[in-house]
Parts: sequence; structure tokens; C-alpha cells
Amino acid sequence: MRLKGSCHCGAVRFSLRSTTPYPFMRCYCSICRKTAGGGGYAINIMGEAKSLKVHGTENVSVYQARIAEGKSKRKKLSEARRHFCSKCGSALWVSDPRWKEWVYPFASAIDTPLPMPMEEVEIMVDYAAPWVEVPRGPEHTHFAEYPSESIADWHRKRLLEVP
Ligand SMILES: [Zn+2]
Repeated sequence: MRLKGSCHCGAVRFSLRSTTPYPFMRCYCSICRKTAGGGGYAINIMGEAKSLKVHGTENVSVYQARIAEGKSKRKKLSEARRHFCSKCGSALWVSDPRWKEWVYPFASAIDTPLPMPMEEVEIMVDYAAPWVEVPRGPEHTHFAEYPSESIADWHRKRLLEVP
């Protein structure tokens, strides 16, 4: 399916093709919480990088976080490029040179109605803020850090890939 997205002020609009549009994965890491997650988490979906079309590219800024390496004080630049609108601050999409063929839009920036997931995956739960209520129950799978299943595998296994 073709997804359309935009920032809040309208300076950036984008569209892309996605066969994996279910917004099922909530990330509670501090970067997502601070840059994109009013509820303490952000949700990224996945689409095809080569299909990404952007209007207002000049208004797109990129943030590369510095991440602590284990317990040491050294910080390393994250490979993930978080794209956001430099006028209104809306989080738009993440790209990563390690996975060049994909781009990961924030579900919050997508205007096309997305399908509602029947189950959810909660990731980076070890980094959730103490005030955040992480949903529990049979429809929720939890991971302390990264999940065992990719966004693509999750869709494939549940026969939810959208043409
Ligand atoms: Zn904007």
C-alpha cells in the first residue's frame, strides 16, 4: 500500500510504499521517549526506501543520537538517522545505512489510516520511564531490549503483509 505522511506544520510531506504497515511495535528507549514519544514510546513501521518521495526536503533535519557503550563513559554515534521537521519538530522517519532498502516512518507522522494491530510488541522495556504504564496481558509480548522478530517477520508470520 502507498502511505502518505506529513509533519504537523505542513512544511514536509512524504509518501512511500509499504507491505508492513501494522503499527505493532512500541519502543520505550530514551531516544524514542524524548524525541517522539509523548506516551513514553514511539512506533515505527517499515516501508521501501526507494519508494520514498519527499516534498519540503529543505525542511528536513537529521538527528543521530550518541549512545553509551555498556557502562563505559564513551558514547558512540548511533547509525540510525532520525529525520524530523526543522520547523515544527515532528518526528518523520528513521533511516539506517545498515538496512539501506528500508525506511522506518513514525506511525505518528502517517496520515493514511493504518490497520490496527491485534497484538503488540513492547521493546526496550528496560529503559521505560518509571511513570510509563507498559501494557501487559496475552496480546502483549515484552522485550528488555531488541525484539527477536523483525518488523517484516512479524507481518509474514501472521499473514499480514499488505500488497
Ligand atoms: Zn513541520
